[in-house]
Amino acid sequence: MDNKVTVDGLTFVPYLTSDEINKQVKRVAAELREDLKGKNPLFLCVLNGAFMFAADLIREVGINDSRINFVKYSSYEGTSSTGKVKEIMGLTEDIEGVDVVIVEDIVDTGLTASMMVADLKKRNPRSIRFVTLLHKPESSKTGFKPDYVAFSIPPKFIIGYGLDLDGKVRNLKDIYVIEEE
Ligand code: IMP
Ligand code: MG
Repeated sequence: MDNKVTVDGLTFVPYLTSDEINKQVKRVAAELREDLKGKNPLFLCVLNGAFMFAADLIREVGINDSRINFVKYSSYEGTSSTGKVKEIMGLTEDIEGVDVVIVEDIVDTGLTASMMVADLKKRNPRSIRFVTLLHKPESSKTGFKPDYVAFSIPPKFIIGYGLDLDGKVRNLKDIYVIEEE
């Protein structure tokens, strides 16, 4: 793990190592495997940020009859939420009667999550579960509560393991937090 990462003039310091991430991914995957027993779920990976978490999580859950699809939303500019959620790529497949598992990188204000869940509910799935790698409960503007959380964190801007700063640094294996002055 690098001591510091600098991107676009901002400095980030180590926060969660890939070992710690793997451990929590395994814990959440075990909970999901148990709760999804006998079901053929559809995992919905929320692009772009959740791609890395989803790849690790879904392999770890290990249900061969599960399927994977992708949706894309955008709400951030730089290091803060714009307060508006844009649907960039919606879901075209029929999810009526399907057990849906939404896989997100991070729930911050909860706007993206609550909008997505409300929208998917209209399509009559059998169930919706919401999994997130990270949750910032203190940033909530909606009261939205994810069903599965790998890490609950304070409301600080973080990068790595899929999470970006204006599209960059998603490649990092570990998670870094913005350095306090
Ligand atoms: P929400 O709608 O405010 O909950 O924002 C959710 C989206 O904002 C996430 O899916 C991320 O793409 C982005 N986001 C929120 N916090 C962070 C962060 O600390 N680092 C990088 N992206 C973030
Ligand atoms: Mg996201």
